[in-house]
Amino acid sequence: MTDYIDLYGAPQDFGDTEAQREVRANDRGYVFHSWSAQGQINPLPIAKGEGARFWDYDGNEYLDFSSQLVNLNLGHQHPGLVKAIQEQAGRLTTIQPAFANDARGELAKRIVEHSFEGARSVFFTNGGAEAIEYAVRLARQHTGRRKIMSRYRSYHGSTGTAITMTGEPRRWANDTIDTSVVHFFGPYQYRSAFWAETPEQETERALAHLEQQVQLEGPGTIAAIVLETVTGTNGVFVPPPGYLPGVRAICDKYGILMICDEVMVGFGRTGEWFAYQGFDVAPDLVTFAKGVNSGYVPLGGVVISEAVHNSFVDRPFPGGLTYSGHPLACAAGVATFDIFEAEGIIERVRDLGARVVEPRLREFAEKHPSVGEYRGKGLFWALELVLDRETREPLVPFNASGEAAAPFNAVVAACKARGVWPFAAGNRLQIAPPLVISEEDLVKGLDALDEALTVADGYYTGA
Ligand code: PLP
Repeated sequence: MTDYIDLYGAPQDFGDTEAQREVRANDRGYVFHSWSAQGQINPLPIAKGEGARFWDYDGNEYLDFSSQLVNLNLGHQHPGLVKAIQEQAGRLTTIQPAFANDARGELAKRIVEHSFEGARSVFFTNGGAEAIEYAVRLARQHTGRRKIMSRYRSYHGSTGTAITMTGEPRRWANDTIDTSVVHFFGPYQYRSAFWAETPEQETERALAHLEQQVQLEGPGTIAAIVLETVTGTNGVFVPPPGYLPGVRAICDKYGILMICDEVMVGFGRTGEWFAYQGFDVAPDLVTFAKGVNSGYVPLGGVVISEAVHNSFVDRPFPGGLTYSGHPLACAAGVATFDIFEAEGIIERVRDLGARVVEPRLREFAEKHPSVGEYRGKGLFWALELVLDRETREPLVPFNASGEAAAPFNAVVAACKARGVWPFAAGNRLQIAPPLVISEEDLVKGLDALDEALTVADGYYTGA
């Protein structure tokens, strides 16, 4: 039986094979990895992926509760996506952006048609960080203002302005790239920066804080306020009722653009095409990437409002990319829309989130003292692990590494030992499986997390 196909098209069996040794040797020999001390990592070689699962070369099977980096919305090797890429490669593999192209135009049209009222056009990039860079440039050019406000506990990517806008430790070593970025606190009621006791208080106080900060920064200097609609890596923060409309109102009052970063949550993750559609708000610019084609070919972009678009009708937009709207990537994007509709993805995300995930996480919170809070929407959830529910002391300290991170690493290892690859961040197990995951697999993965949480309970020090 063939377990996987190697780089040269040859069938291979799992095991401690020459093929596995070569992958490891080439990786350690020649590949420079993101965010890593190169001498201290040993990346796991992956032999194949299928749907919500992937396998290492030894044949260990993992249920992907992280959708890779929360991009694999349609799972590995979706036949519709693979076919669209193969067909596009057979027709026209690439064409530079100054030409019109059928796949690019069709995808832009579908994105605009599924966006907010007043959405006008799409600028395509190669990924999420570039989408942020371009949204910011559009906002600066449009408003003639320079300052950008973004939140603490956010991630916006790892290029110049995007990493400066990021509000967590990955920014620290890159802090001075763009000096026109100001950070503010958003709602996070479990660890409220505003001493709020209810979601209503959290909303009211977070908005008052933001408006005060806008006034002190000088409203006429601020081009845009940028938010992850539902914060991703930093904790799955679903905005409390009224918060996003409140931000919209502040933006309108001071002539500031509202940018929703939907790189992680766009394309179905929260049970809407775009997450902002669940919060009764229309932004001016929306960044997207990952889910637009499940990351099969790198692609990102910015959805642009009529008003911003019109700024560049008679004057050129000063920016561009060789691969803007790459046909291979866009063909996979068009296929994504077709698959979402044919498979009822949005409806199944809502259903599985509400009927399967939420009740099970509620049960975890009742059963496992280490679960301080669970929160989320659609197929995007976080379990915040604590040592003590009373003090809310996290299972591991903020930004812990090495020995200090050991308790959390033990929980993550327990998940992996049970065949589930979780989305692990800080003191949180986050849940973000492919949107095509079967109900049976979803339950199986949750069963594994249930068992792994007993490891977290073992560290509990509260009463
Ligand atoms: N914005 C958000 C909300 C993200 O989660 C990410 C990546 O995880 C980015 C931007 C950056 O995207 P990319 O890694 O494609 O540059």
